[in-house]
Amino acid sequence: MIGFKIIDVIMSFVEWKIKDKQLYLNTHYPLVGVPKLTDRRFCIHCEQWFTVKDYRVQLEYGFSGKKVKYIVCPNAPECDGTLLDWWDHDFEGNKDIDLALQECNQIQRRPTD
Ligand SMILES: [Zn+2]
Repeated sequence: MIGFKIIDVIMSFVEWKIKDKQLYLNTHYPLVGVPKLTDRRFCIHCEQWFTVKDYRVQLEYGFSGKKVKYIVCPNAPECDGTLLDWWDHDFEGNKDIDLALQECNQIQRRPTD
């Protein structure tokens, strides 16, 4: 009899702990413009602001058994957003309120004539 295996797909979240998160971003961030750990980003999946340093790395085994790592939202596994879903502004085009306040303070602190 020719049998076949039924492969259980278990949706478990395995986190790959990163020691130097900036170095990891510098070497693994696939897009142009690597963010700093102190940067704020908006995740369009969970619609929340977060600080880049809080990102997580999810470890998965591909079909070939090869390890695949994804840089994902700090709210994973509840949120399935990856770094491709990170914006530097929200849906209305607003920057993060904390960042906006910082920029505002910097403008106010500029010496006037
Ligand atoms: Zn998210």
